[in-house]
This record gives sequence, structure tokens and C-alpha cells, in this order.
Amino acid sequence: MDFRLSKEQIDIKNAAREFAVGEFSDRAQEFDREEKFDFDILKKACELGFVAVTVSEDYGGPGLGQFEVALIQEEFWAVDGGISVCISSPSFGAELIEKFGTEEQKIKYLSPLPVGEAIMGTAVTEPEAGSDVAAVLTTAVRDGDEYVINGSKMFITNGGIADYLLLFCKTNPDLPKPHDRFSLFMVETDRPGFEANKITGKLGVRASHTAEVSFNNVRVPISNLIGGKEGDGFKQIMYQFNITRNRVSAAAVGIARAALEEALAHTKKRRQFGQSLSSFQVNQFKLAEMATWIRASRNMVYEAAWLVDHGQVDHALIAMTKWFSAEMAVRCADESLQMHGGYGYIDEYKIQRIYRDVKILEIYEGTKEIEKIIVARSLLR
Ligand SMILES: Cc1cc2nc3c(=O)[nH]c(=O)nc-3n(C[C@H](O)[C@H](O)[C@H](O)COP(=O)(O)OP(=O)(O)OC[C@H]3O[C@@H](n4cnc5c(N)ncnc54)[C@H](O)[C@@H]3O)c2cc1C
Repeated sequence: MDFRLSKEQIDIKNAAREFAVGEFSDRAQEFDREEKFDFDILKKACELGFVAVTVSEDYGGPGLGQFEVALIQEEFWAVDGGISVCISSPSFGAELIEKFGTEEQKIKYLSPLPVGEAIMGTAVTEPEAGSDVAAVLTTAVRDGDEYVINGSKMFITNGGIADYLLLFCKTNPDLPKPHDRFSLFMVETDRPGFEANKITGKLGVRASHTAEVSFNNVRVPISNLIGGKEGDGFKQIMYQFNITRNRVSAAAVGIARAALEEALAHTKKRRQFGQSLSSFQVNQFKLAEMATWIRASRNMVYEAAWLVDHGQVDHALIAMTKWFSAEMAVRCADESLQMHGGYGYIDEYKIQRIYRDVKILEIYEGTKEIEKIIVARSLLR
């Protein structure tokens, strides 16, 4: 495996960096403080081809691979996590639709994404079913040519602003194997019986939109069943998680890099006891450790993404990379803030936002504990 980037990949990485530095930096604090989704940046990102980047050319996207996604994610998160989520989340679930959807579903649901004509989301988590995905209670019951959906979902990114949500629910509760009981549906959010309530007061990624959503006798046609077959939902959603978890790992590399950059700048500038903070060996060790962890994580992200792009999804490596990268990013943010002293505690300083934003990476798309369980299972099998 050779991770020297091609000319095209270097161009993509540089373009992503230029866009993020030019457009996110000045607005990040405002959107974070006011907890508002940045629709304007999403529009600009669409114009530059940074939205729904894996959607294939057949459906109007650039058809990039997961390796390129990782390059973009790192650059975006190195500038701001919340705004990065505004750009990446509207196509959350696109890979799944492209892999398992019917041709009609691909045309209908993928084509609007890269041009910003629709926002999508994926709704799995419920009040009583988080890590335990198989405990989902939302039901879809067949009624003639329709399904009737009832239930509620928790912490759904874009829940209140999405045009359609990819919904994980139970269609076959009586089947003996739990994993055969679930199906995925696309549910348009203008259907009667759908309701969303925005969740405010998040610790981080506050520019992103999160909502609790409910379905009260929501009717969808049978053509909204993903892939046209009941019982495939568990397999389909796990495919999506395996693909997109690495995106979270790439985000971790980006935000950890930002924490290091902030620490370098501050410790070189700030003087105490007549010398710069960077001259104290305790800080030098921290900086050296951070740089090493980031490099190790980046290589894991590259390897996992490269394997996905070459048709060899390595579940254990993806899980390893996710917990390791997220944990190391949280550690980098902590060390960097500590090196900032009291200044790091104030939101004028970027490290405060980094410190808050980073924590979500250990939680969503599978908590770090769940990732470690996956790794352990693969070792013990
Ligand atoms: C900002 C944000 C955005 C989100 N976006 C989405 C979204 O778009 N779509 C969506 O479906 N969900 C979304 N989520 C939900 C997220 O994926 C869940 O919060 C996550 O999977 C954990 O579930 P939970 O919160 O119910 O925690 P729980 O499952 O209750 O876990 C609580 C703690 O217990 C630990 N734990 C649980 N089971 C075990 C076990 N067997 N062994 C050891 N430890 C265990 C967990 O690791 C965790 O530390 C989002 C969450 C947030 C905060």
C-alpha cells in the first residue's frame, strides 16, 4: 500500500483546505454561539463540489472514493467541526442508497444531494435504543400498497431540516433472528404525522442541527422500502456504518491537528518565567506526542479508506481506527487547552471550541466502547 497522494488527491486536499480556511474561520464562532445551521456555507460547498462527494456521476455527483472523503474531512475539521457537519451530513446515508437502493430510489434521492436541492439524514437511534441497535421499537406495518410507520427517534442530525430521512424500523418482529426483523425506508418529512423538535444546548458541533423526531401513523408507499425487500435493514445500516465510521476518524485527525497547531502557536508566543512556554520540556514532550498520535491515526485512516475503496472492508480496522483516533483527538484537545492555561477556557480562543467539538467523535456512529467490543470480538473469534 502506498499512501503517497496522487496529484489529483493533493489538489482535492488543497482545495478543501483553501475553502475551509477561507470560508469557515470567520463564521465558526458565530454559528457555534448561536447554534444555527449554516445553509449559506452548504450552498457554497455545493457549488465547489464538496457535498455528497461519493455520489456517482450517474446521479450527478463527483463519485469520489472514501480516501478522498478522508482527505476532505481532515481539512474541514482542522478549521471547524460544526460547519463541517453542515456540509457532510446532508448526504448521510448516500452510500447505502447507492449500494442497495432501486434505480428509482437512486434517481429520486441521490440526484438532488450534490446540487443542494435536498437535505437527507439517517434516523436509527431511539430513546431506548442507542448502542443496542437491535432494540429499535419503531415499526412499519404493511397496509395494502403502503407502510404505516409509528415510533420516535433521538439525536437525529438534520432531523428538523431534512427533506427526507432514511429510517431504520422493525417490519418483521416475529422472526427468530433479531437481525432479520428490520428494514430501511426513505420517509419524506412533509408526510402527515411527522414531527421534529430541535435539540438545543449541545456541548459541541453546535452549528449542526440535531432533533428528536416522531412518526405518528406516517404512510409511505411500498416503493420507499430501500431495495424493495423487507428484512435487509440491519445488513444495510451496518454497511453504512462501516463505510462512514472512517469519516469520523478522519475528522478526529483534522481536529487533533488543529489542537496541535493552536498549541504550537500559543506556546511559542506566550512567555512565563522569562521564556516561551515552548521552551519547557514538559510542553515539548506533549507536542511531540500529539504529532506522533496524529500521524499514527492518519495512517490508520488512510489504510482503512484505501481498503474500502478497493472492495476490502476491514470491520476490525475501521473500528480500531475510530476509537483510537477519537480518543487521541480528545487527548490532544485536552493537552492543548492545558498548555493555553486560562486563555483556553475562553471562547475567544479556538481551542475552547475544539475541546467541546471533539467529544462527539467518541460518541456518534458507534461509541468508543462499542468499537472496542467489535475489535475484541474479531480478536477472540
Ligand atoms: C450530536 C449528535 C448527533 C447524532 N446524530 C445521529 C444521527 O444522525 N442518527 C442517529 O441515528 N443517531 C445519531 N446520534 C446518536 C448516537 O449515534 C448515539 O448517541 C450513540 O450511538 C450512543 O447511543 P446512546 O446515546 O443511546 O448511548 P448508550 O447506548 O445509552 O450508551 C451510554 C454509554 O454506555 C456504553 N455502553 C452501551 N452499551 C455497552 C456495552 N454493551 N458495553 C460497554 N459499554 C456500553 C456506551 O459506550 C456509552 O458510553 C447522534 C448523537 C449526537 C449526540
